[in-house]
Order: sequence, then C-alpha cells, then structure tokens
Amino acid sequence: MKKTILLLSAVIWSCTMAFAQTAHPTKCGMQKKHAAMIAKHPEYAQFLKDQKASLQPAADFYKQYKMQGSEERTTAISAVPIIFHIVVDSAQFNDMGGTAGIIKRCDSQIAVLNHDYNQENSDSVLIPSGWKTLYSNVGIHFGLARVDPSGNCSPGYEVKIIAGTTTADAGFDVENETSPLEKTAGTGLAAWDNTKYYNVWCVNYTGGSTDLLGITTAKSDVTGGWAASGEMGVDILYNTLGSTGPTGSDPGTGSWFTPYNLGRTLTHETGHFFEIWHPWGDDGPYGGAPYYPGDGYCPWSGVTACSAADTVIGADDGLDDTPPESQAVYGSPTYTIAGGTYNDCCNMHGSVNTQPIGIACLSYMDYTDDGAMHMFTTDQANAMASMVLVPAGSATGATGYGTIGENYNLTQNPSLLIACTSTGVAPSPTELKSSLSVYPNPTSGEINISVNSQAETLNNIVVVNLLGQQVAVINGQNKDYYSIDLSGLSKGIYFVKCNFASGSVTRKILLQ
Ligand SMILES: [Zn+2]
Repeated sequence: MKKTILLLSAVIWSCTMAFAQTAHPTKCGMQKKHAAMIAKHPEYAQFLKDQKASLQPAADFYKQYKMQGSEERTTAISAVPIIFHIVVDSAQFNDMGGTAGIIKRCDSQIAVLNHDYNQENSDSVLIPSGWKTLYSNVGIHFGLARVDPSGNCSPGYEVKIIAGTTTADAGFDVENETSPLEKTAGTGLAAWDNTKYYNVWCVNYTGGSTDLLGITTAKSDVTGGWAASGEMGVDILYNTLGSTGPTGSDPGTGSWFTPYNLGRTLTHETGHFFEIWHPWGDDGPYGGAPYYPGDGYCPWSGVTACSAADTVIGADDGLDDTPPESQAVYGSPTYTIAGGTYNDCCNMHGSVNTQPIGIACLSYMDYTDDGAMHMFTTDQANAMASMVLVPAGSATGATGYGTIGENYNLTQNPSLLIACTSTGVAPSPTELKSSLSVYPNPTSGEINISVNSQAETLNNIVVVNLLGQQVAVINGQNKDYYSIDLSGLSKGIYFVKCNFASGSVTRKILLQ
C-alpha cells in the first residue's frame, strides 16, 4: 500500500487515504491481541493458522447439513442467553443513562443482534446489487438471561460500580496471562457458567487502548490453552452498548460513541466469538511475522499494487466468498463499482480480478462505521452457524480449533430466557421474539416452532404466503414446541406469524 502510485486508480487512492487517516479508533482489539500473543508465544501463529484453516470446511459442512432436512434436527434450538456484566465508574454509569438507560440499551442491543444475525436488519436495502446474493442468514437468536446460575431472577445485566475511571486495559490482559480485572469477582464481575451463558462485559478501556471498542476471547482460545475459561466472552466499550436506532428500540438517555452507536460493535465481536475473522485476515499495522506480516499484503506473493516487490504471502480470513483484502476499511465508504463496493490494491492477481464486486467492507466484520455495515456473507454465516446450531460431535474441524458444534450448548437452555414471575417483570416484545425459534430454515416441509409458553400466552400460529393468503393455522396449546407440515405447498417464501396475547412475531421461511 505504498509504492506504485502511478498504478493507483482514484478508487484505490480513496482506499489508501482511508488507511492513512490516524484518527480512527483501533476499533477491535483482535489484531493487536494476536500480534502481541505471537510476539510472546511464536507457536500461537500456528494455532491461529490452524483455526483459520478450519473455517471454510466448517462453512461447507453447515451448507450441506442445513439441506439435510428436519429429521436431522433432533434437538430444539433456543436463543443464546446473554448476560451483560457492566463494570464502570459512577460517571460512566450516569453516561449510560443510569439503570433506566441500561435496561433500554440491553434491550436494543438484543434487538440489533437478532436483526443482524437473522437477515432482518432494515438497512439491508443499502446492500449493493452485486452483494445481495451473498447476504445471508446466520440463524442464531439471542435473548437476555432472565435466570442466573443460582436459579434466581435476573434482568439480563448486572452492574458493578468501581472507583476511579479504569478497568485496567480490560481485554488486553490476555497478553499478560493474567485474569482481567473486570472479569474477576471483587475487582469486577466474574463470568457466569459459559457452557450456558454468553458473557458480555461492558467496560471502559484505559491505558494504551483508549481507541478500543471491543475484544473477544473465543472458545478456541480456551480449548487451545491460551486463555482461562473465565475469560471466555466479549468485552465492549460501555457506550457502544445498545443502539440509537433505527435498528434498535428506544435507546434511552446518556451518551453514545458516535459513529459506533447502532449496536454493531457487539455484532462484530460476536462474529469473533463464533470464530470468524476480519475479511483482510489481520495483516496490517499490528501484524506479526511470519504468518501475519505487518503491512496490508494480499494473500499471495508476487508483485501487486500493494507492494512493488511483494514476496510475502499475506493473510486471508480463511473464507472463500470474502474477496482478498489488504487491510481494514474505516468510515462510511462511497462505493465506486456499479453493483458493488470498490476494489483495493488486492484486486488483480496476475490478470484475474479477484474482487469483481469489490471488497467486503460492508460486512459486519470490517471496521466501517456502524451505519455502513449491513451483512454477513454466506461463508461467514455458515461458519458461525456450524459452531452454534449443530450438535457437538457432528463433525470436527482442525482438532481443537473452531470445532463444529463447540457453542451448541448455548442454544440448549430455553428455561434461562423465561422471565421470572417473582420479579413481576413481563417479557418485552424483543424478548418474546428472541426466545422464539422457527427451524429448520430453509425447510423441505416440516417446520418446528419453539416458544416460551410460561413467558407468554400463544393464541395461535398462522402461516401465510407472499400474497398474504393463510395456508396453515394451529391454535396455541400451552406447550413449548409445535410442528407444522408444509410439504404439500408450493416451494417459495412463507411467513410464520406467532400471535401472542401481547403482540405478534413473524418469521420468514423458505420452503424448498
Ligand atoms: Zn474484530
């Protein structure tokens, strides 16, 4: 990204300028963490390489798996229960709008995750035509944890007010092989049982990382022996929690770290939690040789526009449908390819344009502003789904790294999503939606619907076609699981509308 100015088009120039700007935050700490770990433990590079190599086989596996039909799905899939551990000082607590603001932020954050992971984000209309066929449904749902590990009622978050303004550089403590303060009982809030809950800490970063938005410890870090079990989960900057809309609900009051105010920091970090990478594969300013060279290389060697004498093979994200990309894209890019985004300096490999629709800077896994990211690609979606929606033991990737089904256990605890009646807290529409599952999708005939009958009365389930015509209906029977056979219907898109006493939730399904 430096020598061949004469070869650079205006498109590449704009991309170069985006990189040259230094005012952007680091955004996500994964690249920095990887580089620091490699510097300390050179063998960590091979671990990362193995983990990455397991992703496309995992995505391919899931692509086949989900076409096998509902008879392959013998166990219901439920939403992933999230507990937000909020570790902030009193000023930051007030910044979040106090308790009332935190409740609204948690609720809007769950809504954003469910939109983004289920192809329901309203800003998908901004996806260029060339990328639309890659816009994919991960199929993972999320809900607030309403029961804690001791069986007591929970609002889905807990707060610890700490003195001063620091949480000791939060997630980067993994470099120091110490337990991060914010994840330790006493100095912070300890993880809840990570075989059942997805732990998210909302903190303030200090020290050398004031420009950090989030960092993740995935299960492979733990099974690989690189992190303690209690560190598994995600850290995000406290004022990126939730959304000011339009994809979220009422954001409440307090301050927001604009332009990271639409809840996409957690959408991005959750991608890492389910093992996928940045589209450029993490070579860049914090890269670590030999596997992650330090200056935005392309995933091949030879002369490229990125480097006049490029003999180094750069990194890739391990997935086929994210085009080669030299390094992160910031801001809100102006797309310059009709039907696509734009090329960066990795566009030509020999005489072949490897970025015919541009780069995946519109993916949630790039570094663009919250309002400029709109999708997961098919391979990104399938790789994540293989970790979460498939029973463990169905298949394995590279041993111990990104193992298929490794987070399936998080989808097996619907009772944790049911609002405790003793608190008198009724489930919100968002919670109803997040605790409802319709699967498999796509389906070859039978669909299964799981609901929380204890949380809300289900009046009936109605299936309609694209013309709005009712094609099936069953009445609620005060049970948690329903099944409808649609095999006699024409192939195509249908809508499953679940009518609860306090409102309706609709899911789109594909009959194929
Ligand atoms: Zn990241």
